[in-house]
Amino acid sequence: MEAPGSASCAELFKELRNPYYIGDDVALTQTTGWVDAWTSQPSVYAVAARSAGDVVAAVNFARRHDLRLVVKGGGHSYLGTSNAPDSLLVWMRAINDITLHDAFVASGCGHSHAPQPAVTLGAGAIWMHAYDRVTTKGGRYVQGGGCGTVGVAGLVLGGGFGSYSKKFGTAASSLLEAEIVTADGNVRIANACTNPELFWALKGGGGGTFGVVTRLTLRTHALPALFGFVSAAIHASSALSFRRLVGRFLDLYADRLHDEHWGEIAAIRSGHRLDIEMTSQGLDQSQAEALWRPFFQWVADSPRDFTFTRAPSIRVLPGVHRWDAAYIRPRAPTAMTTDDRPGAPAENVFWSANLAEAGHFIHGYESAWLPAALLEGKRAQLADALVAAAAHSTVELHFQKGLAGGAQEAIAAAKETSTNPAMIDAFVLAIIGREGPPAYPGIRGHEPDLGQARRNADAVARAMKELRRIAPEAGSYVLESSFFERDWQRSYWGTNYSRLLRIKREYDPGGLFFARHGVGSEDWSDDGFTRLIEG
Ligand SMILES: Cc1cc2nc3c(=O)[nH]c(=O)nc-3n(C[C@H](O)[C@H](O)[C@H](O)COP(=O)(O)OP(=O)(O)OC[C@H]3O[C@@H](n4cnc5c(N)ncnc54)[C@H](O)[C@@H]3O)c2cc1C
Repeated sequence: MEAPGSASCAELFKELRNPYYIGDDVALTQTTGWVDAWTSQPSVYAVAARSAGDVVAAVNFARRHDLRLVVKGGGHSYLGTSNAPDSLLVWMRAINDITLHDAFVASGCGHSHAPQPAVTLGAGAIWMHAYDRVTTKGGRYVQGGGCGTVGVAGLVLGGGFGSYSKKFGTAASSLLEAEIVTADGNVRIANACTNPELFWALKGGGGGTFGVVTRLTLRTHALPALFGFVSAAIHASSALSFRRLVGRFLDLYADRLHDEHWGEIAAIRSGHRLDIEMTSQGLDQSQAEALWRPFFQWVADSPRDFTFTRAPSIRVLPGVHRWDAAYIRPRAPTAMTTDDRPGAPAENVFWSANLAEAGHFIHGYESAWLPAALLEGKRAQLADALVAAAAHSTVELHFQKGLAGGAQEAIAAAKETSTNPAMIDAFVLAIIGREGPPAYPGIRGHEPDLGQARRNADAVARAMKELRRIAPEAGSYVLESSFFERDWQRSYWGTNYSRLLRIKREYDPGGLFFARHGVGSEDWSDDGFTRLIEG
């Protein structure tokens, strides 16, 4: 690196904390790498696609010249599947138009499907911009993910859960139609009536696998009148009281919160700490308070056992302001951060909570869908396992990423997708992850601490082992999972895998599209360069 002490170098490292800066650079990804797994590397050449025609040209060129092809949208892959050395990149960022419809009918579905409200998004659009158009300006709801700078296509293709998925299902289950350039260079429409098998595969079968999606149309929903947030942190004074706390919290969840209204995270932390950051939809302030009051009172009644390290807070806001920076900024000044580059569009904002992941380097990361049956017959064993796991590494319980307890329509729609059906029986996705501060492998003075990273990776593995004792067959969510996932076909897609593989072979017999641990990737070497099994 030249002139590491210069002002321009300092400015560069400052901007590398800005997810919009990262997203607008063809060579960068949100995650810089993963210890002993992958390191972000730019492609040799890239096509900055502006139209489906550009994508067709890139796909045809790659196929004719037998090139390793890679597709990047929002660049937020944890598994590193949107970058590859010695590859040709199709960069989708600039295809990002957003159009709202009052009465959308998928092409060829006029005879069988009633018109419905929807939104069409260019595949390079990101969720914060989708929420701005659909909710803040449009007064409707679209199911996306939590992080505003994640790409729309990457999330939908992998499944996609957001705070209110127990009510609205996965992002994939909202897909009404996609336009996709397949390996033969054809632009195809995929929906319930045209290429229905390909359509099903796109609803959770994974990105970078079946072709390059150029545009997606998603169903929109009536906007809930109210969204709510519950926050608290509790420290227990002993191992015994911590176990009681976790048990009591599981009772609260199972008896009062296990329904379509609630989502987001409870973190079981080492040091006997329980951290609650949950969200609700469709409940007013008094309803939310009534549900939580007995639990918070129980904690407050035992001051020798428990201390609130963050006082309980329950807030409710009008649905239309959920992603409205102008409304949120004066009320919660630190909640959102703005893209501070000169001339950046006003809608370029992101949740400050996601700042930690701009340029992060992953040490260890695993997830498991925990079946709702554990809440019934095995609640005590579940509490024991969570406490045992937390002694190694924090367990985050992402309730919105398991659909059990959710709305019937959400579950019915999710059953029509290719995501692992385990998500339907799961009440939660347990995520155990550790990451380092922003680090840039290969850049002196900014290298990750690999020793620390390996120790943390080991702690994550030991923590997950505790959870697997009570859920040995638990599947894992492909978009938020381990690089080293074992038996990944079953883990990511369960009983849907064989159907996905058949569709992959039909639409991409030559294996032009490769994502490591993606459908059909077992035919290839880990780097996607060498075919191991002749097609
Ligand atoms: C900070 C952060 C928060 C997250 N929060 C959530 C969350 O709340 N809920 C959730 O479900 N997930 C979440 N994720 C996971 C995220 O949804 C996935 O990493 C997703 O795949 C990212 O999509 P992308 O377009 O940004 O990434 P990319 O890295 O660009 O793409 C991801 C994969 O999709 C492929 N792809 C991208 N665009 C296309 C296209 N147009 N056509 C074909 N293939 C394509 C890429 O080749 C790659 O394999 C989060 C990730 C991060 C980093």
